[in-house]
Amino acid sequence: MQFHLNGFRAGDPEVLDAAAGPGRSDGLPGEVDVLIVGCGPAGLTLAAQMAAFPDITTRIVEQKEGPLRLGQADGIACRTVEMFAAFGFVERALKEAYWVNETSFWKPDAGRRENIVRSGRIQDTEDGLSEFPHLILNQARVHDFYLDVMRRSATRLEPDYGRRVAGLTIDHKAGHPVSVRLERVDPGHEGEIETVRAKYVVGCDGARSAVRRALGRTLEGDSANKAWGVMDVLAVTDFPDIRIKAAIHSANGGSVLIIPREGGYLVRIYVELEALGENERVASRNIDVAQIVTAARRALHPYTLEVKEIAWWSVYEIGQRLCEKFDDVPAEEVPDRVPCVFIAGDACHTHSPKAGQGMNVSMQDAFNLGWKLAAVLRGRCAPKILHSYSEERHAVAAELIDFDRKIAKLFSAGAGAASEGEVDPAEFQRYFVKQARFTAGTETHYRPSAITGGTAHQHLAEGLVVGRRFHSAPVIRLADAKPMQLGHAVTADGRWRVFAFGGDEDPAGESSAIRRLCGFLGQAAESPVRKYTPPGADVDSVIDVRAVFQQGHRALALEAMPGFLLPAKGRYGLRDYEKMFCADPAQDVFAMRGIDRVRGCLVVVRPDQYVAHVLPLDAHEELAAFFAGFFV
Ligand SMILES: Cc1cc2nc3c(=O)[nH]c(=O)nc-3n(C[C@H](O)[C@H](O)[C@H](O)COP(=O)(O)OP(=O)(O)OC[C@H]3O[C@@H](n4cnc5c(N)ncnc54)[C@H](O)[C@@H]3O)c2cc1C
Repeated sequence: MQFHLNGFRAGDPEVLDAAAGPGRSDGLPGEVDVLIVGCGPAGLTLAAQMAAFPDITTRIVEQKEGPLRLGQADGIACRTVEMFAAFGFVERALKEAYWVNETSFWKPDAGRRENIVRSGRIQDTEDGLSEFPHLILNQARVHDFYLDVMRRSATRLEPDYGRRVAGLTIDHKAGHPVSVRLERVDPGHEGEIETVRAKYVVGCDGARSAVRRALGRTLEGDSANKAWGVMDVLAVTDFPDIRIKAAIHSANGGSVLIIPREGGYLVRIYVELEALGENERVASRNIDVAQIVTAARRALHPYTLEVKEIAWWSVYEIGQRLCEKFDDVPAEEVPDRVPCVFIAGDACHTHSPKAGQGMNVSMQDAFNLGWKLAAVLRGRCAPKILHSYSEERHAVAAELIDFDRKIAKLFSAGAGAASEGEVDPAEFQRYFVKQARFTAGTETHYRPSAITGGTAHQHLAEGLVVGRRFHSAPVIRLADAKPMQLGHAVTADGRWRVFAFGGDEDPAGESSAIRRLCGFLGQAAESPVRKYTPPGADVDSVIDVRAVFQQGHRALALEAMPGFLLPAKGRYGLRDYEKMFCADPAQDVFAMRGIDRVRGCLVVVRPDQYVAHVLPLDAHEELAAFFAGFFV
């Protein structure tokens, strides 16, 4: 990480200086730029992103009296861990979490069907899919990490707890068009009403979203007709795979999913319960934790399970449901107006916990939206980019729901070899393997739009696919020979990145493509870097250009490189030495990501780490035209 740019500063570099200005007040201000509703994974991801911008007034409200302490989701997909790196807390997550390296499958023993036997054991995530593993960690800890990011940011953003959204109205003519009625539910203030006017409101308020209701939108799809019991337990057992993620299909105890948890002892057990009748809610069954324990024991037979402590339990209903659109603008009005209210996370899509997607997709929704809101509010991007949030994320949610329906069906189907209505455990295992990339969150693929370019030049970087997340690879930093991950240059700070991968020539040469590119970006009137960087701001504050060379780091002379790649920044004009990288011969980024060694290429990366464009190194005009499509 970089610090001391504007003068030496002692202390924890992760705690930024508090921004000047009104800062936090005890109550909510009457007007804000962004009001976020709900402190779940979606709301906190968005709040952590918005907290990076002290020039934007953001508030986040939550009906509960304080942060979540335990329970709910726990699966963290590889793609989400990559996002944690962007927010700066990946090391803490990796240290605390359980790592899902393998998954085992169990089925009824053919000879004695009341017993279960292991039918397979596979690697959970394919090699090279991500630089990070699949993790399991309590949702509450994920919330804590985001709250820490917010607290350490220049805005010192803290949630306003004990506020419930009671209503919302939109007046398109007003400067702050959304008026939100909040009812206080915290002790001593019950029933007090506050009104906040906001430029943008984001409902991250879960499956029963009041914001969604206020927009007149509904979740459509299957109502919950399958209930699963879930418990986090400390238990003594002779089941051998208790520290491996295990999917168990038993003949007489239904299906069970074992998820080992952080800390080495805790384990989560999901148990399939009876099917619900049409329109029946699980609450009517009065299921208690003793029934969940009994069902788990039955499924694990002949192994024993002695539960010593139950840290948390719940009965979780499955319903795959999706909202038609994730903002306030009806489809027919898209050309004429821009959205000012959005919904994210469970407020717009719900699914079963089986594939462990709920928390992940919710956080990715918010990551997709946050930089767009910031770019529009800071006057950098045209407001029309806000339409892309619903377009992009609705497509992802629809795909997820199809996937979830299939996996939930396979899970819930009875176990057998091939008898009617039963699922062959081998088929389940095959489907699980096939869909592993999807579960890892790396299959998301945004379609071409103003902010995602075409694929005419994709052959120049076959492994950095336009519309997919920037797949990181190891590199060595030229200035200090530090081995690092290239993708980790893309932090959650709202900046765009342009990675210039050099061709087979000497980048320091007088007429090299890299030098010509640097000349264009640094000096030409049409350069997007020059056009969109505000006067007085650091040259990389809007578009951050980095170069990656195929030569070894000892073969290149730093001092011979174009000055644009050693920019002077901050109040002292200190040189930024972190713009240039070289291939690591042991794990060559050019080979790993299919980059054309002769011609090199440009890879444009969005602030949410998705590849926006691949262009030839000398496509200066095309690069400028791409940014001109949405920057102002
Ligand atoms: C009880 C429960 C158990 C779950 N168990 C599992 C599980 O076992 N496995 C799994 O994978 N997933 C589970 N999930 C789902 C998973 O937690 C969600 O997919 C994920 O949390 C979605 O994140 P979110 O931010 O969209 O919404 P949520 O996490 O639901 O957060 C919404 C927040 O908004 C607040 N809120 C709601 N209405 C208002 C209002 N009107 N005003 C102000 N604040 C409001 C809520 O209090 C809440 O804090 C569970 C969810 C719940 C609610």
